[in-house]
Amino acid sequence: MTAYPQVKMLIGGEWMGEGGDGAMPIVNPATEQEIGRAPKASKEQLDAALAAADEAFPRWSNTPAIERYRIIRAAAELLRERAETIARVMTLEMGKPHAQALGETMGAADLIDFLAEEAKRQGGRLVPVRSHNLLEQRVTQEPVGPAVLLTPWNFPINLPAKKIAGALAAGCSAILKPAETTPATAQMLAQCFTDAGLPDGVVNLVYGDPAMISEHLIASPVTRKVSFTGSTAIGKQLGVLAARGLKRFTPELGGHAPVVIGESAEFERTVAACAATKFRNAGQVCVSPTRFLVARGIYDRFVEEFAARSQKLKIGDASSDDSVEMGPLAHGGRVAAMEELMNAMGDGAGEIVSGGSRIDRPGHFFEPTVIASPAANSKLMTEEPFGPVAGIVPYDDIAEAVKIANSLRYGLAAYAFTSSLDESHYLGKSLRAGMVAINHFAVGSPETPFGGVGDSGFGSESGMEGYLGYTETKLVTVAKAAP
Ligand code: NAD
Repeated sequence: MTAYPQVKMLIGGEWMGEGGDGAMPIVNPATEQEIGRAPKASKEQLDAALAAADEAFPRWSNTPAIERYRIIRAAAELLRERAETIARVMTLEMGKPHAQALGETMGAADLIDFLAEEAKRQGGRLVPVRSHNLLEQRVTQEPVGPAVLLTPWNFPINLPAKKIAGALAAGCSAILKPAETTPATAQMLAQCFTDAGLPDGVVNLVYGDPAMISEHLIASPVTRKVSFTGSTAIGKQLGVLAARGLKRFTPELGGHAPVVIGESAEFERTVAACAATKFRNAGQVCVSPTRFLVARGIYDRFVEEFAARSQKLKIGDASSDDSVEMGPLAHGGRVAAMEELMNAMGDGAGEIVSGGSRIDRPGHFFEPTVIASPAANSKLMTEEPFGPVAGIVPYDDIAEAVKIANSLRYGLAAYAFTSSLDESHYLGKSLRAGMVAINHFAVGSPETPFGGVGDSGFGSESGMEGYLGYTETKLVTVAKAAP
């Protein structure tokens, strides 16, 4: 079995195992055993990281784009070489099945490649002048400055990779604070960058008390950009902190994705895709399909088939069995949240067709759960479940389905399955979300923007937007002579 590494912070190019504020335990959620400890940064250590990022910024932003590209690309290659080990460490930290952890790591390398390429492609533009006296109007995207990157545990390498690669490609230095539960995966990613030749201080890595760290880092005049992925509640708090210093802020927040399934959808393939995607990462995915809206004519069959598929999933400790399809939830709090969701079902709020309980074994396991006809105002249908629970609701006409889909303040991903061209045009246009996928679930490719609207946040990562988010627009205009 892969050993869990010693967790260290990275400040100004130096790896530090000692936290000024002590250390915190890291636990394998499949066994509830402590597997390591991570140092907790003190304010003095955060100040050292800020000073390092501040000092590194002018050097890195003035490094020719082709050089930045070469270093970032080399980090992606190292990530590919180390993917097997990194994926195993990820599974130890957060329980994700090996194939999913490996897929995420290889996908992160592709994301880094794409953003590295943007460093070479983004050249600004020349704007035609209005008078003979004007020689040039040049618009460029300048790196915004040192960036604070805050990421959750559910995609411990994809999310830090997107943020680091976007920041570095644009010429920013960065301080990353990954989730408390998944520090080692982020550390192994950072190590790929340092081993690829990234100069000291360009990327810094700290762990510890999230509220103290984010408050301290965001308040610093050094910080010019904050990128946060996590829950809507925390995103709103951090938005206030960033607004106080008028700092650029990209919140990538929660979602409650609807899936509209039309009568004309290819039934078997659709239900198979829905069940597989719903329980990926035990449902702990911001773009997880959670509200299935199914045409009444196929509703009963869909519920039956979906529940049957959910019951066949192999559940277990993925750190000792590669054939496991669904691992534990990331920590005990997630299991308690699922139980709360079930307790809130109440009379007439829906029917538990399968699952509904924690699994009686060590670790934070919860059954894949299917709820038929949950009430529109139930907790399940209005709050992001972020776990292995699906609500399935019948609809009578497509406009009604869109109305239900658009009824929440979330707007991250929305999906639809249909063979009707008319329906797919209508749904693509009328579903309110940052990302709409029709007849598939793949919204996270390196080349396309990933982001939400409403309570799911604003701004996008990956795609060219993932680079532009770390820049600010500058105009340089030159006249022949003073007027
Ligand atoms: P969370 O908001 O509790 O934590 C996310 C990050 O914020 C972690 O690094 C955590 O340490 C930090 N944090 C926690 N409390 C904080 C505080 N008081 N002040 C500052 N920082 C704090 O979210 P979570 O439960 O870890 O992650 C799940 C959430 O993330 C879900 O809502 C999910 O939808 C969302 N998410 C969104 C995306 C996206 O791209 N939109 C991707 C993945 C996850």
